[in-house]
Amino acid sequence: MEKKLAELKARQAEIHDLRAARAVLGWDQAAYMPEGGGPARARQTALLGRLAHERLTDPALARLLDDLAPYETSLPYDSDDASLIRFVRRRHEMAARVPAEFMAGAEEHFATTFQAWMAARPANDFKAVRPFLARSLELSRRFAGYFPDHEHVADPFIALQDYGLTVSTLRPLLAELRQRLVPLVQAIVARPAADASCLKQHFPAAQQWELSLEVLERMGYDFRRGRQDQAPHPFTTAFSIGDVRVTNRVRERDLGEAFFGALHEGGHALYEQGIDPGLEGTLLAEGTSAGVHESTSRLWENLVGRSLPFWRFYYPRFQAAFPEQLGSVFLDTFHQAINKVQRSLIRTEADEMTYDLHIMLRFDFELEMLEGKLAVKDLPEAWRERFRQDMGIVPPDDRDGVMQDVHWFWGFVGGAFQGYTLGNILGAQFFESALRRHPEIPGEMEQGELGTLHRWLRENVYRHGSKFTTAELVERVTGGPLSIEPYLRYLGQKFGELYSLQQVVGEENDSRS
Ligand code: ZN
Repeated sequence: MEKKLAELKARQAEIHDLRAARAVLGWDQAAYMPEGGGPARARQTALLGRLAHERLTDPALARLLDDLAPYETSLPYDSDDASLIRFVRRRHEMAARVPAEFMAGAEEHFATTFQAWMAARPANDFKAVRPFLARSLELSRRFAGYFPDHEHVADPFIALQDYGLTVSTLRPLLAELRQRLVPLVQAIVARPAADASCLKQHFPAAQQWELSLEVLERMGYDFRRGRQDQAPHPFTTAFSIGDVRVTNRVRERDLGEAFFGALHEGGHALYEQGIDPGLEGTLLAEGTSAGVHESTSRLWENLVGRSLPFWRFYYPRFQAAFPEQLGSVFLDTFHQAINKVQRSLIRTEADEMTYDLHIMLRFDFELEMLEGKLAVKDLPEAWRERFRQDMGIVPPDDRDGVMQDVHWFWGFVGGAFQGYTLGNILGAQFFESALRRHPEIPGEMEQGELGTLHRWLRENVYRHGSKFTTAELVERVTGGPLSIEPYLRYLGQKFGELYSLQQVVGEENDSRS
């Protein structure tokens, strides 16, 4: 058994390293590669991807996993070895279901679809991408067909991102969240809007970059095991537990961009840096799901980074860095500016309060398209109608409507969006648990001290890597299942105070009496 286990470890380590090498090429491509490198880089990353896929789907790996099954059941469920065998088996089974020729054909189609979208979006020409999207949808249904035991056609896609969660769990949860968010958003946008003009002055890039580095350090991001570089679309990537890179971008006319970008990507990076070093070089050494990954980035960006205690410490530093721009702006004004709620068309620019409405629209439409209830040709109109209902505005064109996100135009239709809202829900659940255990955290934030929170997250979430599924992790950390209540409590309290919502209710009651 020892020998078989050693062989499994060696085989999966090769897959890990091929993927890591591919990630280095991807990071370089996004941050430094000159344009001319494109064709060769595409060839090289495709080769590494194919080699990793071949190793993962190798029938010899399946035999090895079968041989190791009795050993696995003899171990505690949460032991490193049992978790590794379980996780490699899951990945092998999912990858082996889909024929390589089908995937190659699909990827070719997605590459052409992406090119078509790049041309059609600026031209506001949905008709031009319609046949491509219809074909992607057809391919998505065929892909799901390789997983005949699924309950809903979107389940295989959700499993790839957030293993263990299904449409039957998520749909009612998100529908309820929407039902309770819409009136809250409507009450807020009926109030006088926050003034965010203090953020839209000129802030020199060099100082913004310095502040972004400083907050990464303060969060506990380890620069001996990472670095921050510039990239037009910020992301985080890990090559090993010892090398986790973040990227960021600065806008001189927007103070929020680089600083909140650092908190967000830093949140992703703390997760990858915080994985138990004993899992290094294994497939378990990465965040367990899209939802849990997004929970840590959103927790640091929003629950910490847009909170008043955090800014009681940070704001004087910002005023010192930008005395002309912020010297006469009060902390409360600044705090309201960074939490401004407004009806918005673009998901990536949406505030904390309206963000999930953007996501749930996409999630619902993915399901309806996959179910055959929503035809691609009817998508733009459905988009406008849903926007009118949820947001009270209607996108003026398809460029900033149905064509705004790349997700449906470079891959399968399905599973692409729920991770974002799951992240918000989970982030609030984790944060509430951390505060219950350590009520001193907000007081520490006022002193610029973030270590207690970081240690709690590392101990309870980060160190496990992919050993547990999302649902298992939530249960371990919070003692209960996935729940939207902590998230709604958090939003209700924070924005209720910021927008004096209690007062609104009170005034209405008075006028009626
Ligand atoms: Zn993220």
